[in-house]
Amino acid sequence: MKALLAVSFGELFLKGANRKKFFNDALAHIENNIKVIGYDNFYLESGKLYIDANIDNFDQLIEQIQKVFGIAYIDKVYKVNKDENDIYLAVKKSIQENYGNENKTFKVITKRVDKSFKYTSPELNVIIGDKILDDFNNLKVDIHKPDFKVFIDIKTSAYVYTKRYPGLGGLPIGSSGNGLLLLSGGIDSPVAGFLMAKRGMKINAIHFHSYPYTSLKAKEKAIDLAKIMSNYTGKMQLFIINLSEIYKAIASNCDRRNTTIISRRFMVRICEKLANKFDFQVLVTGDSLGQVASQTLESLTVVENASALPIFRPLIAMDKKDIVDLSKKIGSYEKSIEPFDDCCSIFAPDKPVTKPRLKYIENDENNLDIENLINEALETLEIIEI
Ligand code: ATP
Ligand code: MG
Repeated sequence: MKALLAVSFGELFLKGANRKKFFNDALAHIENNIKVIGYDNFYLESGKLYIDANIDNFDQLIEQIQKVFGIAYIDKVYKVNKDENDIYLAVKKSIQENYGNENKTFKVITKRVDKSFKYTSPELNVIIGDKILDDFNNLKVDIHKPDFKVFIDIKTSAYVYTKRYPGLGGLPIGSSGNGLLLLSGGIDSPVAGFLMAKRGMKINAIHFHSYPYTSLKAKEKAIDLAKIMSNYTGKMQLFIINLSEIYKAIASNCDRRNTTIISRRFMVRICEKLANKFDFQVLVTGDSLGQVASQTLESLTVVENASALPIFRPLIAMDKKDIVDLSKKIGSYEKSIEPFDDCCSIFAPDKPVTKPRLKYIENDENNLDIENLINEALETLEIIEI
């Protein structure tokens, strides 16, 4: 009897033209997430991935696989010969491990991929069910609402499992286009990227810093956050741009109260240039309506106006508490709350406009050489492979 982990994929993996690509990407993603813990090898058999690894690491491995989108279930399975006695020994062991002496109801579900197996599925269900009832006084059959199910998959071998670990759900990465996430270093933007990735969007990120006005810590923090995100998004590129010349130009030529809005409009314009070059279809931000001055409806629309690219804001209607809860769940919270001096905190106005009018902002921007400032900023571009 051999213990393995089995990974079942969601519906979308099994259908559609790009199936093979999603599947290979997901396999690479799983491999990347589990290699830090270690495994011996893996193989595919009729749609499921089986992973051979040290049983002591199973829980850690499951946790890492639970960070990959598009996975329905992960199971700890026993692989045995296709013989009813061997199958039952595995069933017995699995029930003892998962349910001990608890009073529970169960149902046996056999799935026969190998149609030449000597019993039909209903026949094997009865054979195994009877053996369970003989051995376990604490268990009863309930075929409608069982407390747990005994799964037996008959393939080239028989695979037995009695407890399933849910996957993260969502769609496989790459199935919903490419987005560029504006990653600031706060709590919100990693969560925004996570939510879009969950719907299958391939996420790359961009961080704006303003060294030497702020320390390089802000940049390192963005790199660390991108690494945490990459557990979910898979490999990504992090674009880094120095915005300090733009901040300086705004500070000496524009109304100080407009600094945040105008700098955001520059961020969006720079992103648009990169999007055209690197093929991003949308921008993604961590804005949440009303959270701060730059996130009033007026501010958001004035920022949006700076570029023709759609801006997705998956957190727009979420409360801060719910965003914080999600960031804890995905593991970015602790990193996000480390103190750092954001570019905005140096140049930020004490009293920012909360209801900017596009006309006035554009007037103020007329004091700047926008194209030139954008091109200079683009020259500072660094690309970090995460
Ligand atoms: P977060 O918690 O994500 O840092 P925030 O609460 O600090 O956001 P804002 O500063 O208003 O809120 O930023 C709103 C959004 O604008 C961020 O979620 C992010 O997408 C983008 N953004 C802000 N500053 C930067 C930056 N320096 N680099 C990249 N994106 C940024
Ligand atoms: Mg915020």
